[in-house]
Amino acid sequence: MLQKTHSIAGFISAELVLAYQEVSFFSWDTAGALLLGCLAGTLADVDKPGSTMAKVLFPLSALLRILKVRHRTLTHSLVFMLLIMMISLPMSPLYFWVFIVAYASHPLIDLLNDRGIQLLWPLPMKIRLLPKFIAIDTGSASETVFRWLLLAVSLLIPFMLYVYPAL
Ligand SMILES: [Zn+2]
Repeated sequence: MLQKTHSIAGFISAELVLAYQEVSFFSWDTAGALLLGCLAGTLADVDKPGSTMAKVLFPLSALLRILKVRHRTLTHSLVFMLLIMMISLPMSPLYFWVFIVAYASHPLIDLLNDRGIQLLWPLPMKIRLLPKFIAIDTGSASETVFRWLLLAVSLLIPFMLYVYPAL
C-alpha cells in the first residue's frame, strides 16, 4: 500500500485509541496522538528503499539493507511488533497504544495486498488475506477506492463520537 493509505490507517488507529481512552477532543494530547498515528502507520516501510520513512530514518534503513532485510518481511512481522512494544513501554499509556495500534495497522492492511507479507517472519511464507483476483495491488485503482473508504471512516469516527451523541 502507498504511504498515504498507511497514514490514514494510522490516523484511524489513533482516533480509536483516543475514543477508547476517552481523551478530550480539543487537547494537545489528541493533536500529538493523531500525528503519532500518521507517522507510526507508515513506519514499517522503513524496509523499502526510497520510501519516505527509509529516507527519514536513514541509519535504520541502511542497517536493514546491510542485514539484507527485504521489503514486507521483518518490519511487517509479529516478532518485530513485540520488539516495538518492549521498546515503547516507557511511553505514557496513550502514546504507547497509539504507537502500537498504528504500527500494527500497517501489516494489517498490507495483508490485503496481492503480494502478502511475512507476518510470521523468520518463517518464509507470505501471508495474504484476499484471493489474488480481489487483492489490492499497490497504487492501483482498488487501493484508491480503499483509501477513500478509510478516509470516510476517519471522518465518521469523530462524527459518531462527538456530533451524533449531542444531537
Ligand atoms: Zn508495508
